[in-house]
Amino acid sequence: MAPDQTSIHWFRQDLRTADNPALMSAASSGRVIPVYISEDLTPDEFKIGSASKVWLHHSLDSLNNTLDGHLRCFRGNPETILEKLCKKYHVKHITWNRAYDPWRIEQDTKLKAKLHSYGIKVQSFNGNLLWEPWETLKADGSPYRVFTPFYKNGCLNANAPRTPLSPPEICFHDQKVEPNNLDNLGLLDNKSWEDDLKSEWSVGEDEASAKLKQFLSEGINSYKDGRNFPAQQSVSGLSPHLHWGEISINTVWHATKEQLKQRPELSENANHFLSELGWREFSYSLLYHFPSLPTKNLNPRFEKFPWVKDQVGLRAWKSGRTGVPIVDAGMRQLWKTGYMHNRLRMIVGSFLVKNLRIHWHHGQAWFWDTLFDADLANNSAGWQWIAGCGADAAPYFRIFNPVTQGLKFDPDGSFIRQYVPELEKVPVKYIFDPWNAPQDVLATSGVVLGENYPHPIVDLKVSREKALEAFATLKA
Ligand SMILES: Cc1cc2nc3c(=O)[nH]c(=O)nc-3n(C[C@H](O)[C@H](O)[C@H](O)COP(=O)(O)OP(=O)(O)OC[C@H]3O[C@@H](n4cnc5c(N)ncnc54)[C@H](O)[C@@H]3O)c2cc1C
Repeated sequence: MAPDQTSIHWFRQDLRTADNPALMSAASSGRVIPVYISEDLTPDEFKIGSASKVWLHHSLDSLNNTLDGHLRCFRGNPETILEKLCKKYHVKHITWNRAYDPWRIEQDTKLKAKLHSYGIKVQSFNGNLLWEPWETLKADGSPYRVFTPFYKNGCLNANAPRTPLSPPEICFHDQKVEPNNLDNLGLLDNKSWEDDLKSEWSVGEDEASAKLKQFLSEGINSYKDGRNFPAQQSVSGLSPHLHWGEISINTVWHATKEQLKQRPELSENANHFLSELGWREFSYSLLYHFPSLPTKNLNPRFEKFPWVKDQVGLRAWKSGRTGVPIVDAGMRQLWKTGYMHNRLRMIVGSFLVKNLRIHWHHGQAWFWDTLFDADLANNSAGWQWIAGCGADAAPYFRIFNPVTQGLKFDPDGSFIRQYVPELEKVPVKYIFDPWNAPQDVLATSGVVLGENYPHPIVDLKVSREKALEAFATLKA
């Protein structure tokens, strides 16, 4: 391609300039028109969630600053928009990084063919995964359904992931766009998420890099065990940045490897962290090879599971008012910060699908709407795992006991106290199960069950037994 040509780089989930192979290709081909399109083709149930919209707005704003005000934002059908731009600016080259949502793959394939038929060269790249899902297959060519061999054979024995690319020098096609260009996307219609984002998060490529740096000097030192304790600062908090591609997974992988080289004593913690990045790869591999992952049980036996329709229970779960403190703390962390610690995602998930026997789709949908890191592959795989119906899932009979989980992973109750202030004064002995506390203890703690904190909405022992009975019906 002649270096004086103009290329469009279509940003999607790669809102960064560093280690962006598709942007690099566009920049090295001549002038660049950087574009973002808010699409109207996504199926209804997976339209962007309320929290994600707000993150996306700020992430695009930050990217636009990095691109010196040249990012053009559009709303509508990508085919129509790209075709118009190509005509207007005589563009013969479009680049993008691949995405793996099933409808997106279908749409990209059609779009590529269409654009080719107009004489436009389209180049797509891997900017989102360490290994493409079609590279991590078993010896017989079938996809892995179990994590450990996937990671050991499919990932660790594969070629090392690409070394990260530096940000390219970009020569832009024309002048800056109007400052209100981004507002046209209408992403900021939900004020409360805007406030939460500002108080809890910093968005954008620079912030993502700073967070990685901080994690590699602090959190990683105790990651392997510390990652289970929600009150500790042992996890990276990188998930929304990774979801939106503000930092590349290759950058995270190689920076961790480098840290490990310099500080071999980190081995256990760093390798554990790398394996969690492996879980992300596994979820994407599942989504690619089993495109019904977001909608259908991977284990078809679960089609017959007797789920319960319980609007009251679902509402209590969403609003963090189940009367089970560790569950309520997790759900309130989600509502307040747009994030939930992984240990809590497992605890609240198990409570919803096992103690309440409410279909995992309801949990998946709530997470989709409220998480800043809502990610089709990770969210769907996470819910199928917790419900017991997914690939390599937690067996259905392993039902998390939220009281013992609290005792083990929030031993001094500080996480509960942070998010459930009604229980602030309850002694640690009763903070995980206040319904067992003597009346005088509750009274001196200022708690009146049923008034300022709910009675538990289910009996944990009875609901566990009912879940096991329901599971037994699948074996028949
Ligand atoms: C029911 C359920 C729903 C989930 N929904 C999502 C979701 O929508 N988006 C999302 O990014 N993660 C999801 N996860 C996975 C996990 O909880 C989050 O990735 C993690 O808590 C993010 O925090 P962190 O970045 O500090 O993680 P760290 O522990 O620092 O891990 C680093 C990165 O590794 C990846 N990772 C870690 N754990 C997992 C995992 N179990 N599965 C896949 N990738 C993982 C993430 O990209 C994460 O950012 C879900 C898990 C469950 C059980």
